[in-house]
Amino acid sequence: MEDRDVYLDYAATTPVDERVVEAMLPYYSEVWGNPNSLYRRGREAYTALESARERVVSAIGASHPNEIIFTAGGTESDNAALIGIVTRAKPAGGHVIVSAFEHHAVLEPAHFLEKSGYEVTYLAPRPEGYIEPDDLRVVLRDDTVLVSVMHGNNEIGTLQPIRALAEVAHDRGALFHTDASQTLGKVPFDVAELGVDAASFSGHKIYGPKGVGALYLKRGTPFAPMVRGGGQEFKKRSGTQNVAGAAGFATALDLMLAELPAESERLAELRNRVVEGITSIIENTVESATHPARLPNIAHLIIKGVEGEAMLLQLDAKGIAISTGSACSSGSLEPSHVLLSIGCPAELAHGSVRVSLGRYTSADDVEYFLEVFPPIVERLRAMSPLYEKMFGSTIK
Ligand SMILES: *Cc1c(COP(=O)(O)O)cnc(C)c1O
Repeated sequence: MEDRDVYLDYAATTPVDERVVEAMLPYYSEVWGNPNSLYRRGREAYTALESARERVVSAIGASHPNEIIFTAGGTESDNAALIGIVTRAKPAGGHVIVSAFEHHAVLEPAHFLEKSGYEVTYLAPRPEGYIEPDDLRVVLRDDTVLVSVMHGNNEIGTLQPIRALAEVAHDRGALFHTDASQTLGKVPFDVAELGVDAASFSGHKIYGPKGVGALYLKRGTPFAPMVRGGGQEFKKRSGTQNVAGAAGFATALDLMLAELPAESERLAELRNRVVEGITSIIENTVESATHPARLPNIAHLIIKGVEGEAMLLQLDAKGIAISTGSACSSGSLEPSHVLLSIGCPAELAHGSVRVSLGRYTSADDVEYFLEVFPPIVERLRAMSPLYEKMFGSTIK
């Protein structure tokens, strides 16, 4: 039991599926040409790259290959979308709206635009964990260039009403971008159905390689490239393409879609078991967001009166990997901006855990977690002056 290795942090990253590795290997050995060269070796690599692009086009319901730009991941796609669209559409300045609980990959380029003379509105989600289209309507202006709202939140796991939000933005003449890094392959995602102008994707959230992603840009969307050079990727992202990465991304996406219906049902059941298990066994625990539309694989809970870091480390000692809402990637102890944005008080945000499940999570893994976690919380609460202050000294 001490040798258990239970990974419950699939929202942070996923292992590369062996089938994806297999699909990538030829492009590191036999087919290593430059896809931009005209001789046979180059054409072989080009064919592989364009086949990967075609697969992404059809997987997300795009209408043309030049709407898909391969990038170095979700962060680059978000940066390119925000900065590339806004600076080309309104070079002299204008208004941008992003939701307040976006990933830093959207928030930081938004801050950059703000420093560059654009006005940015950080639209607050409702306490349930979603962006209400009526709230968006209120903050839209005639000079709003772009609205960016993520499809699925990477911390609390709630899904956003993208189709309705995009419609509201378009009604006022604004373009619409969505960060779909967490949702691609996990819930249905179709750019035509959702009506978005741009969307970001990341390879390593779908059992593909790290450092590979894609940006969907609807034809005709104004865009200034961030990476300039040889003009690859339709002049939108220069640099010799990562053919193996593109093949890996496309294969990973195909596998996600082939397994989506059965897998999302299986994961939702396991997720519900986690939520039900924790909230029924451990008192003073609650799900962070109540919005019913959600990713099937993310459970986010507030464990009152306990430090997230402490829970994470105690679970790590038992071979379980989870994430908390108290420390962001920089290692700071700031409470998560996502939890603060939905009105969660800082002291509660510090005591939150995110359990995210995936392809290799078994029911047995979940039961092991539910067996190990309650005594950890009980022990930490017994030592916690904060818990005593909040709920009195007795545990039960
Ligand atoms: C992981 C993630 C990103 C960043 O993607 P990278 O490929 O790691 O750069 C952006 N947005 C969301 C919502 C994510 O979950």
